[in-house]
Amino acid sequence: MILLDGKKTSSDIKDELRKEVDELVSSGVKKPHLAAILVGSNGASETYVGAKVKACEQVGFDSTLVRFNEDVSELDLLNEINKINNNKNIDGLIVQLPLPNHIDELKVTQAINVEKDVDGFHPTNIGRMALNLSTYLPATPAGIMELLSRYNIKTSSKHCVVVGRSHIVGSPMSILMARNNTPGNCTVTLTHSRTKNLKEITRTADILIVALGKAQFINSEMIKDGACIIDVGINRVKSEKTKSGWKLLGDVDFDSVANMCSSITPVPGGVGPMTIAMLLKNTLKSAKNKCY
Ligand code: NDP
Repeated sequence: MILLDGKKTSSDIKDELRKEVDELVSSGVKKPHLAAILVGSNGASETYVGAKVKACEQVGFDSTLVRFNEDVSELDLLNEINKINNNKNIDGLIVQLPLPNHIDELKVTQAINVEKDVDGFHPTNIGRMALNLSTYLPATPAGIMELLSRYNIKTSSKHCVVVGRSHIVGSPMSILMARNNTPGNCTVTLTHSRTKNLKEITRTADILIVALGKAQFINSEMIKDGACIIDVGINRVKSEKTKSGWKLLGDVDFDSVANMCSSITPVPGGVGPMTIAMLLKNTLKSAKNKCY
């Protein structure tokens, strides 16, 4: 079984990005600059944004973190987005999700300038992805594609089953795996909570991509011998064995499937670190005006 090591791969990517940034800067071009907006003080969001800011430092990007209280009005948030859209020094803008209930996420996503939408969530960029045009791919699906590519996982003509159809992971993943590209060219089945006989479907997957947010949901009875398994899930569960009192588990029961699959991403250290690496890659792409 091959461990698809996202931690090492993302570190390799960051080294490559650092080199490119150094070359850019020594040729007189300004550093790439990522802006992040964080609303409220949700613990997980704080962690994710903190990791993104730290990653910017590691590769030599500038970063700006704009914080708002939980009760910020939608209008104030949209005004800040507009300000950043018009700031020529900033190449990429992300708004950390989820947002409080009184703010319309779609409105916020659509307010971001498509040319700075390095999370790749804007409907225009999703449409460009579906049409196989140059765009910013959503970071988590892009990270999975990069892992498949760097580990030379054959995808053409394979059956790929995706569990979960969220706008940020499952749906774009299904589009990317079906596109006429490498990786890609799979026959794709997209499953969700209304899918009947899920086990019968997942057992036919050559490549199984799981993003449903339920700890250890997929076990050995649900996979095919020799499958490649991508576990996107990040679930915090209580643990008496750790200092913090909790641990991270994926959506796949790793120990149960480890002897059956040909390759698998661990949790933590699989898809998670790749997501941040792809966000940085998108920001560099924007700084180099390579997308639009
Ligand atoms: P969402 O909650 O937005 O979507 C979950 C999806 O799973 C839905 O489409 C839902 O179906 C489906 N689902 C729920 N229960 C079942 C079931 N019993 N059988 C089949 N499908 C089911 O989740 P996200 O996509 O945002 O995240 C999924 C997981 O990935 C989470 O653990 C999250 O923390 C993690 N994640 C990790 C990232 C990373 O960087 N590694 C990035 C983003 C997310 P329906 O549509 O019918 O409700």
